[in-house]
Amino acid sequence: MNIHVGHLYPDYLNIYADRGNIAVLSRRAAWRGHDLEVTAIGLGDDVVAGEHDLYYVGGGQDREQMLVAEDLLLKADALRAAVDGGAALLAVCGGYQLLGRGYRGFHGEDMPGIGLLPLETVAGEKRMIGDVLLECELEPGERRTLAGFENHAGRTRLDPGAEPLGRVLSGFGNDGESGYEGCRNGRVIGTYLHGPLLPRNPWLADWLLSQALAHRTGGEAVALDPLPDRLEQEAHAVSAERARDRGGKR
Ligand code: GLN
Repeated sequence: MNIHVGHLYPDYLNIYADRGNIAVLSRRAAWRGHDLEVTAIGLGDDVVAGEHDLYYVGGGQDREQMLVAEDLLLKADALRAAVDGGAALLAVCGGYQLLGRGYRGFHGEDMPGIGLLPLETVAGEKRMIGDVLLECELEPGERRTLAGFENHAGRTRLDPGAEPLGRVLSGFGNDGESGYEGCRNGRVIGTYLHGPLLPRNPWLADWLLSQALAHRTGGEAVALDPLPDRLEQEAHAVSAERARDRGGKR
């Protein structure tokens, strides 16, 4: 099967090794006999709903976010139609913030968001930096931990009733207070975790691939056959341990 991935703004939103996430998706798809076809979707490019099975948007600093925010608005309707049609989407950090209703940057710059996730973000004085450990339950009864690194000034507030990606075991998360990190709406996931995220959390990479495959086939999402993942588990354990050493929320 060919899995079509639309990588939004790879030239602007790509700090913290976000490209590594794409590399992981690509290898894990190939190990299951699937080809990942990645298309860059940049400034001025159209999003065509139905064309891609998975969208990815990475992290960036306020300056880069400013450069893409207005352009992303032009793509908002098509992206909404794409996810309504079952496409999956992973947004990291700066990209995550722009999926909400808006982001007010560190210097008071107001950036519009596309409202795909029910949240808003305002930058605070102090950056929230360090290793993070979350507990997630994307599928009922399947609790998994997600380990990563955060570095953001933005405080993200979820609307009442919005589903977070996970519960913070260690680290700051969305705003350093709520105890939650990220946001999930169906097959759309936003998170502050990078570093990159997927190499040390292969279960999430596989979850995204299975959602993308479901979009491609028009069927239900089916869990992929497990891989040995010895190094990946080790990377997860080291990262989780660093987050635990940091202690609870602070
Ligand atoms: N500029 C945003 C913030 O500081 C996002 C940073 C990032 O993508 N790492 O909150």
